[in-house]
Amino acid sequence: RGTDAEPQIPFALPGSLTKVIAVASGKGGVGKSTVTANLAVAMAADGLRVGVVDADIYGFSIPRMLGVDRAPTKVDDMLLPPVAHDVKVVSIGMFVPAGQPVVWRGPMLHRALQQFLADVFWGDLDVLLLDLPPGTGDIAISVAQLLPGSEIVVVTTPQVAAAEVAERAGAVAAQTRQRVVGVVENMAWLEQPDGSRLELFGAGGGRRVAENLTRLTGADVPLLGQVPLDVELREASDGGTPVVLAAPASPAAVALRAVASTL
Ligand code: ADP
Repeated sequence: RGTDAEPQIPFALPGSLTKVIAVASGKGGVGKSTVTANLAVAMAADGLRVGVVDADIYGFSIPRMLGVDRAPTKVDDMLLPPVAHDVKVVSIGMFVPAGQPVVWRGPMLHRALQQFLADVFWGDLDVLLLDLPPGTGDIAISVAQLLPGSEIVVVTTPQVAAAEVAERAGAVAAQTRQRVVGVVENMAWLEQPDGSRLELFGAGGGRRVAENLTRLTGADVPLLGQVPLDVELREASDGGTPVVLAAPASPAAVALRAVASTL
């Protein structure tokens, strides 16, 4: 196939008006997918045309969080993505049999991502969000190659150990010349019944990542927001309706909407 033209990715064409934002984290479990899902539906609720690519190959959770249980439908050579809460969604999880682990190597991941971008009928989008796998692996590099204009949002917890690995994920962007638009600190605190804040995972991780990435990239990387621990958020995600829609008045929803409005 060496001489075949590479499939064309509409978002990578000059003049594309779609803002592409990849959501990254240093390690798993910090809420990267939660943030992605909530940003997507918050932006869609604001009237933007939004698509999500779940590229978290080994830990795909976007379909559950958005309540999607359908695979894309095939029309001619294109895939029509399912729509959930006004967001078009494609996930690697839609292409593997339920319950089976994904054991793919780098080149296959690259090809899968390429297909998600080139062979899915996205239509005109204002925003395309990508939920990256945690860390600094193959997919992050593929995203930088396939979508050179994409921007990065880094999600971390307040914990120093999480912040250190999050910085490394953000530092990849400096090498690939992607812009880091900012940092979201998730699981920032747990509000107690008396209104005080219990800092379960410590404090300062988000600010630290923002400052260090500012230094590393030479461009201003702001702390975009702090999202508290919130039982409603977790329940909403498990139920397939992100908290910004399910419980819009909850502190976590307010924080996530505020982040969405800065992007
Ligand atoms: P990642 O994508 O970084 O692996 P997830 O978004 O899948 O992390 O989140 C991991 C788990 O933590 C999920 O069950 C999610 O519902 C929960 N979670 C994430 N953020 C919060 C939060 N702020 N409050 C409560 N639960 C959260």
